[in-house]
Amino acid sequence: MKKQLLILAGLCFSVTVANAQKTLIHCGTLIDAVKNEGESKMTIVVEGKKITAIQKGFTTPTGTDKVIDLSTKTVMPGLTDMHVHLEQETSKGGEIKRYQLNAADIAFDATKYAKNTLMAGFTSVRDLGGSGVNVALRNAINKGTVIGPRIFTSGKTIATTGGHGDPSNGLSEKYTLDPQYLTAVVEGVDQCRQAVRQHYKDGVDCIKITATGGVLSIAKSGKAPQFTEDEVRAIVETAKDYGFHVAAHAHGTEGIKRAVRGGVTTIEHGTFLDDEGIELMKKYGTYLVPTILAGKTVADSAKVPGYYHPLVVPKALETGPLIQATFGKAYKAGVKIAFGTDSGVSIHGYNAYEFQYMVEAGMPAIEAIKAATIVPAEIMGTQKDSGTIEAGKIADIIATDGNPLQDIKVMRKVSFVMKDGVVYKQ
Ligand SMILES: [Zn+2]
Repeated sequence: MKKQLLILAGLCFSVTVANAQKTLIHCGTLIDAVKNEGESKMTIVVEGKKITAIQKGFTTPTGTDKVIDLSTKTVMPGLTDMHVHLEQETSKGGEIKRYQLNAADIAFDATKYAKNTLMAGFTSVRDLGGSGVNVALRNAINKGTVIGPRIFTSGKTIATTGGHGDPSNGLSEKYTLDPQYLTAVVEGVDQCRQAVRQHYKDGVDCIKITATGGVLSIAKSGKAPQFTEDEVRAIVETAKDYGFHVAAHAHGTEGIKRAVRGGVTTIEHGTFLDDEGIELMKKYGTYLVPTILAGKTVADSAKVPGYYHPLVVPKALETGPLIQATFGKAYKAGVKIAFGTDSGVSIHGYNAYEFQYMVEAGMPAIEAIKAATIVPAEIMGTQKDSGTIEAGKIADIIATDGNPLQDIKVMRKVSFVMKDGVVYKQ
């Protein structure tokens, strides 16, 4: 029955595409993420899944043309959050969920998080680590059975023994020896290469490693380096063979530098980045994905008694408040920045708070918007198809009430979402 319904949905979809009518989107202000300013009174022409033209003024419809009136709104490309965890969402004492949830439970929760993310204007995300349900979620969204953003997923995080992302941290021996908890936990260059190949087999889109300790793992250090440079290099070289880029979670100074020299594409968080690290990132062209929202969220939550495990609280209080200033320093020094929130550590759908925090730290609004549109497309190699509003690109289009170039807070008020030419919110 389900199968028939799916097939039916597929048929309906192809009929829609075959008779593609023109949709004319009248934009009060258009920020195309190519130019550095908005243009008033513009029309975007959408046919099927694609943008086919950009026209000055409000084009008058003819024949079967359909009009979407966004003449009082500011229109821009669909946003991309380069660091989310769609399988999970923060809650008090939430670490116990590891013992309670089966894959199916995680999957049902994830459908809600995915929808909330899309409705907030994020038409694409990079999911940086989960149990592997994130791969199935991506597939379900691509098939149209679940509503959510386009997902680029790293599947499971690759971690070292006891490192951030080792899923058996804090569990009893019975579980730490259980192979299901040890997949993607690696030692030495051979296992690093093998893990990347296994991820290829699992169907991921990119690779995530935890180059240093982290805040939310049940482990003492939030900053110690946890991979050797050789191990990082083995992962990066193997990843390249399969067309993957590598994202490295890294708070501590030494681990950041090893990851950069090892060739990763993005540094996540970057909390204790120093001047030498900044110069290295510039030299290697490494992007920083700051996740200021996560820093603020964990620092706040750590003040709530019992919210986190006792090992987590001091790490959250120390690390969280530093991220915004590190980001500001790195941006001003010329490090390339991509937008990312670590949502899941915070509530899904509130991703746009990050824009405000980026602007507060000294980044112009237009740069923050580009960090969430064209920059992610460059990192993922999709810039030919996405990241800006130009003819020939996929119709991922959002609109806000108010102009974010005048008040960045309006990024939290997304009132229109189109993904792949389909309207999800209006
Ligand atoms: Zn994360």
